[in-house]
Amino acid sequence: MTTVNSRPPQTEDSLQISSPVSLPKAQSFYPDSFLIGDGYPDQQSFSVSAREEGKGFGVYTMVPFQRGQRVCRISGSITHDVLQHTLQISTHCHLYDPFFTGYLLHSCDPNAILDMQKFELWALKDIAAGDAITIDYTTTEDILFRQFPCGCGAPNCRGWITGRQETAKIPSAQG
Ligand SMILES: [Zn+2]
Repeated sequence: MTTVNSRPPQTEDSLQISSPVSLPKAQSFYPDSFLIGDGYPDQQSFSVSAREEGKGFGVYTMVPFQRGQRVCRISGSITHDVLQHTLQISTHCHLYDPFFTGYLLHSCDPNAILDMQKFELWALKDIAAGDAITIDYTTTEDILFRQFPCGCGAPNCRGWITGRQETAKIPSAQG
């Protein structure tokens, strides 16, 4: 029976085998090809997801924001076309952002607003962690990709949402 190597391991050995703990880097919503840096949304602060089955995606915050605070900077590519995930910059110029901004939900009494000159999203109200971030689509869009009925529940809900330069085209009940 041998007693060789019966010593308990030394403290130094234990330290050597423990690897440093590294936290995962907050992942941006935007691809690396975009010019991104401080202030752009990352996946530790926001979630782009569907809250209810069958419902569309929305942008939800995981951190609180105060009224008057900048929520984040936004990015995208420029297009002349009105697409499902574009936001209007000027008459014939639209920001196409199928990563983040394009999923902001509409409310007639929104808690945020887009600055389409500086490409920033600002809080109009205090926003709690877990809340959907909402904007009023009519504040940026002359013509919507698609008009739609609104169920935002706000006392001032317009009921049917259009761009600011188009008339309502409500489909008739008869179809
Ligand atoms: Zn509404």
